[in-house]
Amino acid sequence: MFHVEQSAPHIVVVGGGHAGVEAASAAARAGARVTLVTLKASAIGVMSCNPAIGGLGKGHLVREIDAFGGIMGVAADRAGIQYRLLNRSKGPAVQGPRAQMDRELFKGAVQAIIAQTKNLTVIEGQVVDLVIRSGKVTGVVLQQGGELLCDGVILTTGTFLNGVIHIGTETTSGGRMGERAATKLADLLYGLNLPMGRLKTGTPPRLDGRTIDWDRLERQPGDEDPVMLSFLSSAPAVRQIDCAITHTNARTHDIVRENLNKSAMYSGNISGVGPRYCPSIEDKIARFADKDSHQIFLEPEGLTTPSVYPNGISTSLPVDVQQDYVASIVGLEKAEFLQPGYAIEYDYVDPQALSHALEVKALPGLFLAGQINGTTGYEEAGAQGLIAGINAFLAASGGAPCVLSRADSYIGVMIDDLVTRGVSEPYRMFTSRAEFRLQLRADNADQRLTPKAIDLAMIDEQRKAAFDQKMQHLESVRLILRSTKVASRKAHESGINVSADGPARDGMELLSIPDVRPAALAELFPDLQDCDPQAVEQVAKEAIYANYLDRQQRERDRLLKDEQSVIPDTFQFSAVRGLSAELLEKLERQRPETIAHAARLEGMTPVAMNSILLALRTKD
Ligand code: FAD
Repeated sequence: MFHVEQSAPHIVVVGGGHAGVEAASAAARAGARVTLVTLKASAIGVMSCNPAIGGLGKGHLVREIDAFGGIMGVAADRAGIQYRLLNRSKGPAVQGPRAQMDRELFKGAVQAIIAQTKNLTVIEGQVVDLVIRSGKVTGVVLQQGGELLCDGVILTTGTFLNGVIHIGTETTSGGRMGERAATKLADLLYGLNLPMGRLKTGTPPRLDGRTIDWDRLERQPGDEDPVMLSFLSSAPAVRQIDCAITHTNARTHDIVRENLNKSAMYSGNISGVGPRYCPSIEDKIARFADKDSHQIFLEPEGLTTPSVYPNGISTSLPVDVQQDYVASIVGLEKAEFLQPGYAIEYDYVDPQALSHALEVKALPGLFLAGQINGTTGYEEAGAQGLIAGINAFLAASGGAPCVLSRADSYIGVMIDDLVTRGVSEPYRMFTSRAEFRLQLRADNADQRLTPKAIDLAMIDEQRKAAFDQKMQHLESVRLILRSTKVASRKAHESGINVSADGPARDGMELLSIPDVRPAALAELFPDLQDCDPQAVEQVAKEAIYANYLDRQQRERDRLLKDEQSVIPDTFQFSAVRGLSAELLEKLERQRPETIAHAARLEGMTPVAMNSILLALRTKD
């Protein structure tokens, strides 16, 4: 497995963050020789902000990365110190597995996986330029001198492009606390006339847990039956811990309000747009003035460090003000800082410049993934890295691009959103972004995507064997459930909530009735006892949505057809009658690759779409 020819394409990945490691690993697993160039090898896999992986929408992305044999889920399960399935009381489609990490263990796990990946070499250094020959990117230039020639480059430089760190009125150049920014690379991208913008994000101070009064705080334990992030894991690898909850109060709000003019984000020092869904404490108090309290989760950052992450109070206020408002919070009166909170402002490339394969349309051979594309979050970065890694290899080896559909993955939804509509604020994933979310569940990511990874020959034997076995178990359960139609009276008598004179139903139909759990079917389908219990639970989840899935199928088929209807490169949008000048300009700039892509462009109308379809048909 993973045999790589000496003549295999050489791919250079720039950046060892979450996008970079997935890109490097995916390209290597797909069959490339890979060089990962990063500023600090010891910082590979660092979590710049919150010590957690997964969550709503994000848990789906982690499972999808894992379904392709990626790093994130496996590393997270080696380092998870508290597991919680978010939205547990709601349906499986919107449940999000999440685990809090021991930062050092997570970083160590990522580095170990990278070190064990065949045909992957890590070089410490700064990339300052690209080698471009005949309009194609064919290498990178290192600051220490020398060129690395290759068949494709993936930039995953995160928050480092022209990064500026803000604490109150103090500003320093940096990619994140303690690391230098990448200014030469940013200049280069401006020089290439790529559409660029500026975004910002922030992080809270880190507290010394030994100075927190835990006894006064509400404890938050993890789940009793932890749900793992990787399909290969069965139980947490390390000791589990509790978190705690506290709240801001009127005094906290007064301190923040009185000092808003000293906040980098509010004093006009920062021009970039911040993440709406991850607001700073300044944002919360200024924008939600009617709320007199906000919840703060106190999350230990590991088993051997005193560092605690106060989730919910990211800030760019001066350090003395941060200390004042933290001391006003119950349990934190004497809390000491290990690191102040800060905001960071950085350049990003408008992802509308990219194809669905994450390749820069105007510059073949250059792929972009992660926060450089205007997203926020480890999971969003990792998922893009995976796709860029696969596609850099495919492009260099003459294969057709790997483009995931909105109909089969959250990754497909995210990339389509990014390249079709661009970003106006840091983009993060939510389940509400996916129109087919009943099908795109975290629990079935492997069923949806591992077959594609097998086709690309990029997963190892262990994962393939585990997947094949799981599919067999699922099929056995489905066969048993579909084998018999149970008369309604019999189902009623066995305690299932159906009327005694209704139609006969098979096991799948019975499981689609709200609140009917597999245990209720034990007597009616005794063969289930011999089945793998996890497979039975999984099929029960499928059954909940079976009725809705039939209805969604037609819509899904239409989208898949539109995604396959390619608009030729030579097609003249200017020859289409009746398009507004604004829409025409957008179509010519973005050159949508398919009908589905064109239909989702901002400003597209049904009339304009019909005109384009007519023109395409006439052309044929
Ligand atoms: P990064 O993880 O930033 O990795 C970039 C890598 O590129 C680094 O390894 C760096 O060394 C390397 N690099 C850069 N330039 C060069 C070069 N020229 N040559 C070689 N190597 C280079 N996410 C959230 O979801 N919620 C939050 O609240 C949140 N807050 C954040 C607060 C701060 C202060 C920061 C810094 C980030 C925050 N994030 C947050 C974002 C999260 O950390 C990122 O989304 C994620 O790390 C992006 O991954 P990435 O791989 O794109 O980039």
